[in-house]
Amino acid sequence: MRAVELPAQPINAMNKSVTVIGGGPAGLMAAEVVSAQGVKVDVYDSMPSVGRKFLMAGKTGLNLTHSEPFEQFVSRYGDRRAQIEPLLKVFGPNQLRQWVQGFGIEIFVGTSGRVFPVGMKASPLLRAWLKRLDIAGVEFHLRHKWHGWNEDQSLKFSTPDGEKYIKTDAVVLALGGGSWSRLGSDGAWVDWLEQVGAKVTVLRPSNCGFDVTWSPHFRERFEGYPIKSVVLSFGELRQQGEFIITKEGVEGSLIYAASALIRDEIYAKGRAIISLDLKPDRSLAWLAEKLSKPRGSRSMASYLEKTVGIKGVKAGLLREFVSKEDFTNVERLAHAIKDLRIPLLAPRPLDEAISSAGGVMFESLDKHLMLRTMPGVFCAGEMLDWEAPTGGYLLTACFSTGYAAGNGVLKWLENQK
Ligand SMILES: Cc1cc2nc3c(=O)[nH]c(=O)nc-3n(C[C@H](O)[C@H](O)[C@H](O)COP(=O)(O)OP(=O)(O)OC[C@H]3O[C@@H](n4cnc5c(N)ncnc54)[C@H](O)[C@@H]3O)c2cc1C
Repeated sequence: MRAVELPAQPINAMNKSVTVIGGGPAGLMAAEVVSAQGVKVDVYDSMPSVGRKFLMAGKTGLNLTHSEPFEQFVSRYGDRRAQIEPLLKVFGPNQLRQWVQGFGIEIFVGTSGRVFPVGMKASPLLRAWLKRLDIAGVEFHLRHKWHGWNEDQSLKFSTPDGEKYIKTDAVVLALGGGSWSRLGSDGAWVDWLEQVGAKVTVLRPSNCGFDVTWSPHFRERFEGYPIKSVVLSFGELRQQGEFIITKEGVEGSLIYAASALIRDEIYAKGRAIISLDLKPDRSLAWLAEKLSKPRGSRSMASYLEKTVGIKGVKAGLLREFVSKEDFTNVERLAHAIKDLRIPLLAPRPLDEAISSAGGVMFESLDKHLMLRTMPGVFCAGEMLDWEAPTGGYLLTACFSTGYAAGNGVLKWLENQK
């Protein structure tokens, strides 16, 4: 099955050529949509191979999309829902699933509702996709780094053979965000787009870890340890899950889920305090009752473990943030177990984040994702100004915006005839 639908009116643009810069999921999707109409497409990428971040995403299990109802799905894009929702209505989670299955790749829905390919990896999908693009005549130009536009509006590239200047009928920029720059997306494009009048919100870490000032003892003892089955509260958000203690602080899915809110609070106020419920299945009264049993000669560690089942890294966390006095006060200790306050001081650097917030603002784009100041130039993927939590929402929006940009190019070429 081929789920990428062809536009209703096939265009006669065989003599046109389209340049896609950036061979991630967004750029490759745009290349597929355009080349499927017989239009010549050239994909340029600065790296020696395409799809490196996509492959990296597959290392820990490629979470393609999410199976929750569409209404809930679109709410994940927060403030940018209004801009992303119309695109997802055309190519959203269901179309993405069909498209993946169209390569003969089976998918499954995990217990959390997240959708994965059965093999969990990205490589079989990428291989099959590149083969399809090859058959459609798409040409790849690797180790070609784009450096903006020349005065005559040609695209400027540095290549192993020196500088190259390329003129083309339409361009899709799908250059990614600014995280994990070693995989190709380094955010260097921001300046070049601003120079041509696009409004770009500064790139910020999203789905990122945070710095915490650990004591040397805690850091040495618990770096790399997971904190499982806790409830994190921050502002309106209250979510159960797990995260990891790092050398610098905290990271992992539960932290990422709250990371946009935490980051913005740190930017506004200098720090953010999260609350952890270390024993979400037990009430405050239950804890107070258990802790009121006499400790006798037992150490505090063994007492905590025997009475309320708190040990290891969770006990270590209590030690980090509960004063000596409160530790010996049953009520206060019970309270701290249900509401342990941890100050987060700074987001980890953008390069370490799973994704970027910020990017090309939607007000600089028309509804086909074409730059208002540069007719014929379209933008797609993570370089646009939206963010979403992990859970498959990132890739879905990248595919969806790539699909929209591809169709925008076809409409643009049609009007240029
Ligand atoms: C560790 C990790 C795990 C992840 N897991 C998931 C997951 O399971 N599910 C999910 O939904 N998302 C996941 N993501 C996020 C997802 O991979 C990205 O959101 C997605 O790859 C972005 O797609 P894109 O096409 O916009 O950009 P990218 O995939 O970043 O591709 C951009 C391309 O542009 C090229 N490029 C950049 N600048 C230039 C230039 N100047 N000249 C030429 N080429 C250039 C780059 O080399 C790159 O190939 C993960 C990310 C990371 C880091």
